[in-house]
Amino acid sequence: MPKEPVIKVRGVKKIFGEQVVLDGINLDVYEGETMVVMGGSGSGKSTLLRIMIGSIRPEEGSVELFGKNIVDLDESELNEVRKKFGILFQSGALFNSMTIAENVALPLQEHTDLAPEIIDIQVKIKLELVGLREHADKYPAQISGGMNAEIDQLMVDLSKKLHVTSIVVTHEMDSAFTIADRMAMLDKGKMLVVESREYFEQMRDTPLEQAKQMSQT
Ligand code: ADP
Repeated sequence: MPKEPVIKVRGVKKIFGEQVVLDGINLDVYEGETMVVMGGSGSGKSTLLRIMIGSIRPEEGSVELFGKNIVDLDESELNEVRKKFGILFQSGALFNSMTIAENVALPLQEHTDLAPEIIDIQVKIKLELVGLREHADKYPAQISGGMNAEIDQLMVDLSKKLHVTSIVVTHEMDSAFTIADRMAMLDKGKMLVVESREYFEQMRDTPLEQAKQMSQT
């Protein structure tokens, strides 16, 4: 692992109205790792993620992506930075009236100047990569049911194959333990702990009383 993180969050504070939603958040994410951000509903996970992609600005603190602080960039500068990463929504990300291949082609048609035949090739490569080539002409409703269980393993495989850096927000613990290299736990806007998956696995197997004693020693 290289020493410098590709994403470096420092002292991020976010206030909505009267409410301090994020308070002094620090987080490092290293190249190629999958960081899972956990925390109860309302703990600030989505807000943190939005700040990390520059879609909302924090009151205080910085977010460095590839060595560049993005919190003060304007929209056109942000769009340049955003080309380096993708955002994946857990559900509702696909248009149901379009085939899988058409869904994958859409952002390439809308946001690049690539010729249709190049887009066609890129779509085939991407679908091959995620094992969906044979489903290219099906509609989302025709494949989604049985595939949810495969998504976690797919993420693990892809992140190894492509060496992508991922930040995943979830409250599904099984999913978190399958995909995470490291995990970050938010609670009421504060970062409680950032540790390896193994650390959290140990905590998970430790009865509550024992865990309390461990944290006191
Ligand atoms: P999580 O993703 O962990 O459920 P959020 O980041 O969505 O938490 O929300 C954290 C807190 O900030 C919640 O109390 C939520 O009501 C509040 N919040 C989030 N977005 C806004 C907003 N745009 N305006 C006001 N309050 C917000």
